Amino acid sequence: MIPAPFEYYSPSSLEEAIELLERFGEDAKLLAGGQSLIPMMKLRIIEPKVIIDLNRVPGLSYIREEGGFLRIGALTRYYMVEESELVRRRYPLLHEAVSQIADPVVRNMGTVGGNVCHSDPANDLPAVMLAYGAEMVAVGPNGERVIGASEFFRGPYQTDLRPGEILKEIRIPQAKPRSGGAYLKLERRAGDFAIAASAVQVVLDSSDRFEYVGIALTSLGPTAIRVDAAEKVLLGRSSSNLSSINEAAELAYKAAEPVSDLRGPEWYKREMAKVLTKRALLKAVERARSFTG
Ligand SMILES: Cc1cc2nc3c(=O)[nH]c(=O)nc-3n(C[C@H](O)[C@H](O)[C@H](O)COP(=O)(O)OP(=O)(O)OC[C@H]3O[C@@H](n4cnc5c(N)ncnc54)[C@H](O)[C@@H]3O)c2cc1C
Repeated sequence: MIPAPFEYYSPSSLEEAIELLERFGEDAKLLAGGQSLIPMMKLRIIEPKVIIDLNRVPGLSYIREEGGFLRIGALTRYYMVEESELVRRRYPLLHEAVSQIADPVVRNMGTVGGNVCHSDPANDLPAVMLAYGAEMVAVGPNGERVIGASEFFRGPYQTDLRPGEILKEIRIPQAKPRSGGAYLKLERRAGDFAIAASAVQVVLDSSDRFEYVGIALTSLGPTAIRVDAAEKVLLGRSSSNLSSINEAAELAYKAAEPVSDLRGPEWYKREMAKVLTKRALLKAVERARSFTG
């Protein structure tokens, strides 16, 4: 299939991109890596009249630690995150998730911002951002706005971005000593979307108790699901207490809202929510114990 005809704009600044978005409103779509937008246009699931390509807007592609955050420009491509020594060493949850997205062709083009803005329940990065307690920085006609990940993902293909807003930056709290994370993803075959996946980030105190816990699920509901109940159960408890970890995994089972489809029956996906969350918690704790900062 080929897409329906559209007008193409390639702004050279964020201001110009915002102006174009305002001018064309609902008729326009932003183009980042194009790895979801273009297939959807080719299948005529969507037929935008105007495409605003962000790829010539400078200053949207970077990975740096600054002001207490790992800051990632919205247009940063997956391969840059995958190859970043900083991310590999200090942000294993993000590194593990990005390295499992699709295949190298998609990872050469797809962007971190595009992944979260697309908000497909099968996208890997929404759960990662929920587990980290990340923030999204949007810019629009009324200036800049910071949105917590828990408020950002509104539903399938829906985010908290308002008309005219563009995601500019993703902020992940800077890695602390004794922090660690893991992303466990079950796929039908390498490079596929998840049947089910669990994202876990923890910080341990000096007595090995949970000081911070973030747990979120991919492909297990209409959007990425943050498992608050499991986080609460673990906070303040010893990370060596296996029964607490089992309890948290059970709460992930309860929080999952999967549907039966080609990737498996509902009951199986729910079981996987439990198994993957338990394993991700154990791996995250192991990593946190040996991470000195
Ligand atoms: C074969 C294949 C396999 C895949 N497997 C996986 C997988 O395993 N896991 C996974 O997570 N993803 C997977 N994907 C999807 C891929 O990760 C896409 O790259 C991602 O969903 C969208 O990112 P993008 O940069 O390509 O965005 P685009 O496709 O360009 O845009 C997606 C949407 O986000 C909007 N958007 C993009 N950037 C911004 C911004 N800065 N501000 C506001 N709105 C914006 C666009 O308007 C559009 O609506 C796969 C894709 C393919 C083709």
